[in-house]
Amino acid sequence: MLNIVIFGPPGAGKGTQSQNLIEKYKLAHISTGDIFRAHIKNDTELGKKVKELLANGVLVPDSVTISMLEEEVKKNPQAQGFIFDGFPRTVPQAEALDAFLKSINTSISVVVALDVNENELKIRIAERKKIENRADDAEDKLLKRIDEYFSKTIHVLPYYESQSKLQKINGIGKVEDIFSAISKAIDNSK
Ligand code: ADP
Repeated sequence: MLNIVIFGPPGAGKGTQSQNLIEKYKLAHISTGDIFRAHIKNDTELGKKVKELLANGVLVPDSVTISMLEEEVKKNPQAQGFIFDGFPRTVPQAEALDAFLKSINTSISVVVALDVNENELKIRIAERKKIENRADDAEDKLLKRIDEYFSKTIHVLPYYESQSKLQKINGIGKVEDIFSAISKAIDNSK
């Protein structure tokens, strides 16, 4: 199995690059942000629970996120591998993912970390806001998300670095150039 974590701050291009990766490597895509938004849209129990948190750019508690993620993986027993987008966002999530994958006899192959500076992130999200109109792209919510990233999520990087799984990729430039750098990193990890 090829299991990839695509990692980076809000606006780094995780969603865009995930779409390319799914096609090339035939992986099942699990975006925790997309799944939460679908629950909110369908007004499920989980959706009701997380609606406020997402709208404010705050992370959903680990216990809720981890069990949802495990459910999603189990829904795809035929998958040749997964691309985890937006997960793990905390060290406990990374530890839980390792333990869960081990329990189904697989593991993370590589972690692709998209490197984009804060100024560029703000410009990109301002652009995206015009198209998608996500409530959490409003400026104060965005600052909260960037803050969550730099206070909690960034610690996931040394976690994977110590396992020699981390591949840092420059996330600024043409989408196709970034994609070819990512593909190279993945192919080298096989
Ligand atoms: P971004 O574009 O900022 O990367 P996502 O679409 O991945 O955003 O996630 C949107 C929101 O969903 C987050 O701000 C957070 O509230 C929630 N969320 C997504 N993934 C996780 C996670 N792994 N842990 C906790 N909360 C999460």
